[in-house]
Amino acid sequence: MLKIGVLALQGAVREHIRQIEELGCRAISVKSAEDLKELNGLVLPGGESTTMRKLLDRYELLEPIRALAAGGVPMFGTCAGLILLATEIVGYDTPHLGVMDVVVERNSFGRQVDSFEVEMSISGVGEDIPAVFIRAPHIVAAGENVEVLAKHEERIVLARDGQFLGCSFHPELTEDLRIMKYFIEMVREHTNVLVH
Ligand code: GLN
Repeated sequence: MLKIGVLALQGAVREHIRQIEELGCRAISVKSAEDLKELNGLVLPGGESTTMRKLLDRYELLEPIRALAAGGVPMFGTCAGLILLATEIVGYDTPHLGVMDVVVERNSFGRQVDSFEVEMSISGVGEDIPAVFIRAPHIVAAGENVEVLAKHEERIVLARDGQFLGCSFHPELTEDLRIMKYFIEMVREHTNVLVH
């Protein structure tokens, strides 16, 4: 059975665990470097990226997660998780994990509308997919190997860079499992490559 970790320092952890289990995989709560062992994939949930960064430092997880990424393990960042993955954050000198070839901007959908829900059509995933945005970032620029999967108001809100999937919104806050299923397919492909 595939083992998918969910970084469990802060944010929407349980919701991701529920979706992973509903799709027949084993979900592991990741709170220390020890928990990263033997993971086939890792989800970085939404929350507050600066707080999550402090916790990543405190629990000495930054380098172990970078090492896992360097080993090719697929990672899925939602909202603050996307900010953690990005190689560049607008207005900041240094990134957090800095592994996914995108530039992100925080809180980019306006202050007066803190959160909203829309239905989106997502390339390779499906139509009418509910997307909940909560003080969401967006992808300002993406490297040449990055595949843009969805846009909202002309802004990139879901993209894939090889082993990395990054999303501005929160698929885990809906009953729709299609985006998590897409990620689990990425994990399955990577795991098959390792096995054969
Ligand atoms: N605005 C948050 C940040 O910059 C992200 C919000 C979220 O994850 N829902 O970290």
